[in-house]
Amino acid sequence: NRIVSGGITTDDIESELSLRPKWISEYIGQDKAKQKLNIFVKAAKGRSESLDHVLLYGPPGLGKTTLANIIANEMGVNIRVTSGPAIERAGDLASILTNLGDDDVLFIDEIHRINRTVEEILYPAMEDFALDIIIGKGPSARSVRLDLSKFTLIGATTKAGLLTSPLRDRFGVMLNLELYETKDLKEIIIRSASILNIEIEEDGAIEIAKRSRGTPRIANRLLKRVRDYAEVIEDGIITLGVAEKGLKILEVDELGLDAVDRKILLTLIENFSGRPVGVDTLAAATGEERATIEDVYEPYLLQIGFINRTPRGRVATKKAYDHFNIPYIEE
Ligand code: ADP
Repeated sequence: NRIVSGGITTDDIESELSLRPKWISEYIGQDKAKQKLNIFVKAAKGRSESLDHVLLYGPPGLGKTTLANIIANEMGVNIRVTSGPAIERAGDLASILTNLGDDDVLFIDEIHRINRTVEEILYPAMEDFALDIIIGKGPSARSVRLDLSKFTLIGATTKAGLLTSPLRDRFGVMLNLELYETKDLKEIIIRSASILNIEIEEDGAIEIAKRSRGTPRIANRLLKRVRDYAEVIEDGIITLGVAEKGLKILEVDELGLDAVDRKILLTLIENFSGRPVGVDTLAAATGEERATIEDVYEPYLLQIGFINRTPRGRVATKKAYDHFNIPYIEE
């Protein structure tokens, strides 16, 4: 697995449990999302009601699972965690739903990947807190409605547009998580370092933050790998110099770009001579999956202004040409 991908790896799992903030006040950045959430949580608590269903969307590793857990904590309720691909049959979801207590949170990660029959169970569950089940077969079959507890569904997806509109319409709250700024990532790194007992100087934290592609999961991962370098080769303290040398060994460049980013950019610049390229063509030319390009690479390359999305496809910007020292010819 690539060190700069936002997706979770087995190496992340253990430390993520200790690094995950538990309260809104510990959750760094995402001010817009936090502000909305604070209001909705307080309002729901004030009325002693369950929170409206929440859809969290944004690239992997930005803190969607963390936020779902925080919401449950702040509401003082239990959370049940599952994911779209894990719910195979309608019966799986029915048994999860009937076991939820009042106001509990059901978190469904990758909710865009649930299948159609399962999704149809969700509609009445979200809207009327009811489950329609069919009893019997053939002409004597009848539908029975079971009442469910009033629960809060929190769905997470990389893009809101991946959901069918009937499902999307049933969420009362939509929160868009954006890539983090360097100053927020720096704070996350300093917080994680103190939890993991890693000595780090501010400059060192900034350097790691700058190369973390706006993604807390990557920031925490780079921190741990730079710590290894600091402990084995240096005196254990992550200074600016130690961070730079450690990151060089990890082959993460000063912008956090890796080999695949470079391939995408050079494909746009060299193979297509700066003409707009569709994402499928780009996927074929780089040997990456379309979804990986769209969810992992593109958001960051767009954010740092290295590519533009035009109606006819993606193009590399002058900034990208400059990065590779390739002359940019203005059209
Ligand atoms: P997602 O569900 O969006 O893929 P996660 O919620 O699993 O992302 O977040 C990945 C890790 O990044 C978490 O374990 C947590 O340590 C860290 N993290 C994410 N968001 C924040 C934040 N706002 N403040 C501090 N740490 C965060």
